[in-house]
Amino acid sequence: MAEIEADAAEQDHCGSCRACLDACPTNAFPAPYQLDARRCLAYLSIEHKGQIPHEFREALGNRIFGCDDCLAVCPWNKFAQTSREARMAMRDELRLAPLGELAVLDDAAFRARFAGTPVKRTGRDRFVRNVVCAIGNSGEAALAPVAADLTSDSSPLVRGMAIWAARRLLDAEAFERLKSNRAPREGDASVAEEWDR
Ligand code: SF4
Ligand code: SF4
Repeated sequence: MAEIEADAAEQDHCGSCRACLDACPTNAFPAPYQLDARRCLAYLSIEHKGQIPHEFREALGNRIFGCDDCLAVCPWNKFAQTSREARMAMRDELRLAPLGELAVLDDAAFRARFAGTPVKRTGRDRFVRNVVCAIGNSGEAALAPVAADLTSDSSPLVRGMAIWAARRLLDAEAFERLKSNRAPREGDASVAEEWDR
Protein backbone atom coordinates (compact mmCIF):
# COMPACT_ATOMS: atom_id res chain seq x y z
CA MET A 1 0.00 0.00 0.00
CA ALA A 2 1.38 3.43 -0.91
CA GLU A 3 2.04 5.88 1.92
CA ILE A 4 0.78 9.26 0.84
CA GLU A 5 1.47 12.26 2.96
CA ALA A 6 -1.66 14.27 3.67
CA ASP A 7 -1.63 17.87 2.48
CA ALA A 8 -2.97 20.74 4.53
CA ALA A 9 -6.70 20.89 5.07
CA GLU A 10 -8.51 23.22 2.66
CA GLN A 11 -9.28 26.64 4.07
CA ASP A 12 -12.95 27.26 4.92
CA HIS A 13 -14.38 29.59 2.28
CA CYS A 14 -18.03 29.23 3.32
CA GLY A 15 -18.16 31.10 6.61
CA SER A 16 -21.76 31.29 7.80
CA CYS A 17 -23.19 30.79 4.29
CA ARG A 18 -25.52 27.83 3.82
CA ALA A 19 -27.12 28.85 0.52
CA CYS A 20 -26.43 25.50 -1.17
CA LEU A 21 -27.86 23.51 1.74
CA ASP A 22 -31.05 25.59 1.67
CA ALA A 23 -31.42 25.56 -2.13
CA CYS A 24 -31.12 21.81 -2.57
CA PRO A 25 -34.54 20.51 -3.62
CA THR A 26 -34.00 17.07 -2.07
CA ASN A 27 -32.12 17.99 1.14
CA ALA A 28 -29.12 16.08 -0.12
CA PHE A 29 -26.77 17.83 2.31
CA PRO A 30 -27.23 16.22 5.75
CA ALA A 31 -24.71 18.75 7.18
CA PRO A 32 -22.21 21.31 5.88
CA TYR A 33 -19.52 19.68 3.71
CA GLN A 34 -21.44 16.42 3.51
CA LEU A 35 -23.43 15.23 0.50
CA ASP A 36 -25.67 12.17 0.40
CA ALA A 37 -25.37 11.30 -3.29
CA ARG A 38 -28.35 8.94 -3.04
CA ARG A 39 -30.56 12.04 -2.66
CA CYS A 40 -28.79 14.18 -5.28
CA LEU A 41 -30.72 14.78 -8.51
CA ALA A 42 -27.49 15.15 -10.47
CA TYR A 43 -26.41 11.68 -9.34
CA LEU A 44 -29.85 10.18 -9.87
CA SER A 45 -30.31 11.60 -13.36
CA ILE A 46 -26.78 11.03 -14.68
CA GLU A 47 -24.99 8.25 -12.82
CA HIS A 48 -27.74 6.09 -11.31
CA LYS A 49 -28.36 3.07 -13.51
CA GLY A 50 -31.60 1.93 -11.88
CA GLN A 51 -35.01 3.49 -11.66
CA ILE A 52 -35.36 6.91 -10.03
CA PRO A 53 -37.02 6.34 -6.62
CA HIS A 54 -40.56 7.69 -6.33
CA GLU A 55 -39.70 10.14 -3.58
CA PHE A 56 -37.40 12.13 -5.90
CA ARG A 57 -39.43 12.15 -9.12
CA GLU A 58 -41.46 15.28 -8.46
CA ALA A 59 -38.34 17.11 -7.26
CA LEU A 60 -36.68 16.34 -10.58
CA GLY A 61 -39.20 18.77 -12.15
CA ASN A 62 -38.18 19.55 -15.73
CA ARG A 63 -34.50 18.64 -15.29
CA ILE A 64 -33.43 15.95 -17.74
CA PHE A 65 -29.67 15.85 -17.10
CA GLY A 66 -28.26 16.98 -13.78
CA CYS A 67 -29.33 19.71 -11.38
CA ASP A 68 -26.59 21.97 -9.97
CA ASP A 69 -28.97 24.33 -8.15
CA CYS A 70 -26.34 24.29 -5.38
CA LEU A 71 -23.72 25.66 -7.76
CA ALA A 72 -26.11 28.27 -9.12
CA VAL A 73 -26.65 29.81 -5.67
CA CYS A 74 -23.03 29.67 -4.49
CA PRO A 75 -21.79 33.26 -4.15
CA TRP A 76 -18.29 32.21 -5.20
CA ASN A 77 -19.59 31.30 -8.63
CA LYS A 78 -20.24 34.92 -9.48
CA PHE A 79 -16.50 34.99 -10.15
CA ALA A 80 -16.75 32.14 -12.64
CA GLN A 81 -15.98 33.05 -16.21
CA THR A 82 -17.53 31.69 -19.37
CA SER A 83 -15.07 29.49 -21.19
CA ARG A 84 -13.67 30.73 -24.46
CA GLU A 85 -13.10 27.14 -25.54
CA ALA A 86 -15.43 26.57 -28.51
CA ARG A 87 -16.13 22.96 -27.53
CA MET A 88 -17.62 24.14 -24.21
CA ALA A 89 -20.19 26.39 -25.91
CA MET A 90 -23.88 25.47 -25.93
CA ARG A 91 -24.87 23.96 -29.26
CA ASP A 92 -27.88 25.70 -30.80
CA GLU A 93 -29.60 22.48 -31.83
CA LEU A 94 -29.60 21.30 -28.19
CA ARG A 95 -31.27 24.39 -26.74
CA LEU A 96 -34.84 24.02 -25.51
CA ALA A 97 -35.59 20.80 -27.37
CA PRO A 98 -39.25 19.87 -26.75
CA LEU A 99 -39.76 16.98 -24.30
CA GLY A 100 -42.06 15.19 -26.77
CA GLU A 101 -39.26 15.18 -29.35
CA LEU A 102 -36.59 13.91 -26.93
CA ALA A 103 -38.85 11.16 -25.54
CA VAL A 104 -39.15 9.40 -28.88
CA LEU A 105 -35.42 9.20 -29.68
CA ASP A 106 -34.29 5.67 -30.43
CA ASP A 107 -30.74 4.57 -29.73
CA ALA A 108 -29.33 5.68 -33.09
CA ALA A 109 -31.09 9.06 -32.98
CA PHE A 110 -29.93 9.63 -29.39
CA ARG A 111 -26.31 8.89 -30.31
CA ALA A 112 -26.44 11.13 -33.36
CA ARG A 113 -28.00 14.01 -31.46
CA PHE A 114 -25.71 13.92 -28.45
CA ALA A 115 -22.45 12.83 -30.06
CA GLY A 116 -19.56 14.75 -28.51
CA THR A 117 -21.56 15.86 -25.44
CA PRO A 118 -21.52 14.54 -21.85
CA VAL A 119 -25.20 13.60 -22.25
CA LYS A 120 -24.21 10.66 -24.43
CA ARG A 121 -22.75 8.82 -21.48
CA THR A 122 -26.13 8.16 -19.85
CA GLY A 123 -27.17 6.14 -22.89
CA ARG A 124 -30.57 6.41 -24.54
CA ASP A 125 -32.57 4.47 -21.95
CA ARG A 126 -31.53 6.50 -18.90
CA PHE A 127 -31.88 9.75 -20.82
CA VAL A 128 -35.40 8.91 -22.00
CA ARG A 129 -36.25 7.77 -18.44
CA ASN A 130 -35.39 11.32 -17.30
CA VAL A 131 -37.32 12.94 -20.13
CA VAL A 132 -40.40 10.86 -19.33
CA CYS A 133 -40.11 11.87 -15.67
CA ALA A 134 -40.13 15.52 -16.79
CA ILE A 135 -43.17 14.77 -18.96
CA GLY A 136 -44.92 13.36 -15.89
CA ASN A 137 -44.13 16.58 -14.05
CA SER A 138 -45.17 18.82 -16.94
CA GLY A 139 -48.94 18.82 -16.32
CA GLU A 140 -49.25 18.82 -20.13
CA ALA A 141 -52.17 16.60 -21.15
CA ALA A 142 -50.92 16.88 -24.75
CA LEU A 143 -47.89 14.79 -23.71
CA ALA A 144 -50.02 11.99 -22.21
CA PRO A 145 -50.07 9.97 -25.48
CA VAL A 146 -46.25 10.07 -25.57
CA ALA A 147 -46.09 8.63 -22.04
CA ALA A 148 -48.78 6.06 -22.87
CA ASP A 149 -46.88 4.88 -25.97
CA LEU A 150 -43.66 4.49 -23.99
CA THR A 151 -45.30 2.04 -21.57
CA SER A 152 -44.46 -0.54 -24.26
CA ASP A 153 -40.85 0.64 -24.77
CA SER A 154 -38.13 -2.01 -24.93
CA SER A 155 -36.41 -0.61 -21.80
CA PRO A 156 -37.91 -1.46 -18.37
CA LEU A 157 -36.52 1.85 -17.08
CA VAL A 158 -38.51 3.77 -19.67
CA ARG A 159 -41.64 1.61 -19.31
CA GLY A 160 -41.67 2.02 -15.53
CA MET A 161 -41.30 5.80 -15.69
CA ALA A 162 -43.83 6.03 -18.54
CA ILE A 163 -46.45 4.31 -16.35
CA TRP A 164 -45.80 6.86 -13.61
CA ALA A 165 -46.09 9.75 -16.09
CA ALA A 166 -49.19 8.34 -17.80
CA ARG A 167 -50.91 7.93 -14.43
CA ARG A 168 -50.30 11.62 -13.71
CA LEU A 169 -51.39 12.91 -17.11
CA LEU A 170 -54.28 10.66 -18.17
CA ASP A 171 -57.72 10.72 -16.56
CA ALA A 172 -58.47 7.70 -14.39
CA GLU A 173 -60.60 5.95 -16.99
CA ALA A 174 -58.03 6.31 -19.78
CA PHE A 175 -55.27 5.08 -17.46
CA GLU A 176 -57.28 1.98 -16.51
CA ARG A 177 -57.87 1.23 -20.22
CA LEU A 178 -54.13 1.49 -20.86
CA LYS A 179 -53.35 -0.67 -17.86
CA SER A 180 -55.80 -3.44 -18.82
CA ASN A 181 -54.20 -3.53 -22.27
CA ARG A 182 -50.53 -3.41 -21.27
CA ALA A 183 -50.12 -4.70 -17.70
CA PRO A 184 -51.04 -8.36 -18.40
CA ARG A 185 -48.18 -8.56 -20.92
CA GLU A 186 -45.53 -7.04 -18.65
CA GLY A 187 -42.69 -9.47 -17.93
CA ASP A 188 -40.48 -7.29 -15.72
CA ALA A 189 -41.30 -7.46 -12.00
CA SER A 190 -40.38 -3.85 -11.22
CA VAL A 191 -42.52 -2.54 -14.08
CA ALA A 192 -45.43 -4.79 -13.11
CA GLU A 193 -45.17 -3.29 -9.63
CA GLU A 194 -45.41 0.19 -11.14
CA TRP A 195 -48.73 -0.76 -12.80
CA ASP A 196 -50.04 -2.03 -9.45
CA ARG A 197 -49.15 0.98 -7.34
S1 SF4 B 1 -27.05 18.99 -7.62
FE1 SF4 B 1 -29.14 19.55 -6.96
S2 SF4 B 1 -29.91 17.77 -5.83
FE2 SF4 B 1 -27.64 17.55 -6.00
S3 SF4 B 1 -26.85 18.46 -4.13
FE3 SF4 B 1 -26.87 20.10 -5.67
S4 SF4 B 1 -28.87 21.14 -5.39
FE4 SF4 B 1 -28.99 19.14 -4.32
S1 SF4 C 1 -23.25 28.15 -1.36
FE1 SF4 C 1 -21.00 28.11 -1.68
S2 SF4 C 1 -20.17 29.45 -0.09
FE2 SF4 C 1 -22.28 28.96 0.50
S3 SF4 C 1 -22.10 27.16 1.87
FE3 SF4 C 1 -22.43 26.40 -0.21
S4 SF4 C 1 -20.34 26.05 -1.05
FE4 SF4 C 1 -20.13 27.37 0.76
